[in-house]
Amino acid sequence: MISPEVKEKYQLVVGLEVHAQLHTESKIFSGDSNSFGDAPNTNVSVISLGHPGVMPKLNKKAVEYAIRMGLACDCKISEYQFFDRKNYFYPDLPKGYQVTQDKTPICVGGKVPVYYGDNIHSEVILNRIHLEEDAGKSIHVEGKKNSLIDLNRAGVPLIEIVTEPVIHSAEEAGAFLAEVRRIVRYLGICDGNMEEGSLRCDANVSVKLKDAKELGKKVELKNMNSIKSVIRAIEHETERQIDLIEDGEEILSETRTFDINTGRSSGMRTKEELNDYRYFPEPDLSPIHVTDAWLHEIADTQPTLPSEFRRKFQEDYGLSLYDAEVLTDKKEMAYFFDSFCEKTANYKAAANWTMGPIKSYLNEHGKEIDELEIGVVRLAEIIQLVDDNLVSFSAASQQLLPYLFEHPHVPAKDAAKSLNIIQESDSGSIQPIIDQVIEENPDKVKAYRNGKKGLIGMFMGEVMKKTQGKVDPKVAKKLLQDSLEL
Ligand code: ADP
Ligand code: MG
Repeated sequence: MISPEVKEKYQLVVGLEVHAQLHTESKIFSGDSNSFGDAPNTNVSVISLGHPGVMPKLNKKAVEYAIRMGLACDCKISEYQFFDRKNYFYPDLPKGYQVTQDKTPICVGGKVPVYYGDNIHSEVILNRIHLEEDAGKSIHVEGKKNSLIDLNRAGVPLIEIVTEPVIHSAEEAGAFLAEVRRIVRYLGICDGNMEEGSLRCDANVSVKLKDAKELGKKVELKNMNSIKSVIRAIEHETERQIDLIEDGEEILSETRTFDINTGRSSGMRTKEELNDYRYFPEPDLSPIHVTDAWLHEIADTQPTLPSEFRRKFQEDYGLSLYDAEVLTDKKEMAYFFDSFCEKTANYKAAANWTMGPIKSYLNEHGKEIDELEIGVVRLAEIIQLVDDNLVSFSAASQQLLPYLFEHPHVPAKDAAKSLNIIQESDSGSIQPIIDQVIEENPDKVKAYRNGKKGLIGMFMGEVMKKTQGKVDPKVAKKLLQDSLEL
């Protein structure tokens, strides 16, 4: 373990490279199906197999999706682009090269807002987003001499999002990844599933003394399949590098892999062993021209982004940043909450109901928000009943809501009546009960009048017992106090 004082001397520098598989029907350069989980080597035409002489054809939807991501991240969209061949040899790459965009990435620059820790807000600056094809997948079965190759993934469209080296904590890196995942999901261009590999992240990590001008040598961490493992791997790598430097040793520019189970990393290859990719323009594909008209058409049909919902929930609905973050974490939740707020003016109550009783119900029943049968109109009726003091909050959350989840077509007020939880708030009918409680407890009344004001709770308890909790507590308390002060 490194002492906090030693750690204090260093600054962590991280740049991330995030690959997102685009959720198109077909692959980027062929009509092969782009679906996950099919039997190995079933979505493979001669193009995916990299046979010589075949001609790739660009999938326009993949380009559109990449542009959507670029617009969402405030990038500059390149008007003219071409593809490059990145040459290297690997068994899962039948052509011997990957088609990518080296010289003319589709999106240049840009930024992603992130929130983490105790209300820390930062912007992660992007270097670029480029389009490319995925490679196939090598499968190494334990105990088997030969490895297997599945080429279903070969030619799946990818965007690679490359940040500048501007991230300074593992937590910030995690928050960035979470926001990228949210953005691709809101845009509907990628399912963001890290376990299945639709979203993958490599982390470049270096450390330097805080006042040093130059960046330290970076180590690239590969093969992390959850946000948690990215955070853990960066934390681990930071300590490893500081340790080495403190011991007077050099950091090797290398690629390492982190094992979340053992919490250790190991070297895969050093920079010196890396290929020279011999990039050159792909001759079989025409350059892309993004016309203004097309760009506008895409911009005009851009879905609402998480940051836009966050701003709306804070500014229009008066919620805290925390509430806005919780309610926008999932796209379906944000849309649900937004439509809920169209049916009630008590936005804070809508937020509390959503994050409290509704969420608990969903958790308990293993349901997603878009599987709720009860509509937002009905939920707004519940808020109204509580606001009108016709039903107490506790009766509404413990009895009315569960009932309405089961009977979503019954109007909330009818349901409250049949559950017998409409509370009395008419002082004329509550007063006799209060008089009775006062008459039955002469000693307590005396004590109260002598200053033991805490007894009000006991009196309220008696009133509630006699009415089976069906009086508006605010009204009852006021009447009680008035009667006791006499
Ligand atoms: P390479 O030439 O090794 O591909 P790049 O300059 O293209 O390196 O950067 C690749 C990624 O590494 C980017 O995300 C970038 O932000 C990050 N990066 C570059 N230098 C450093 C560094 N010294 N420390 C941490 N990350 C870095
Ligand atoms: Mg590079």
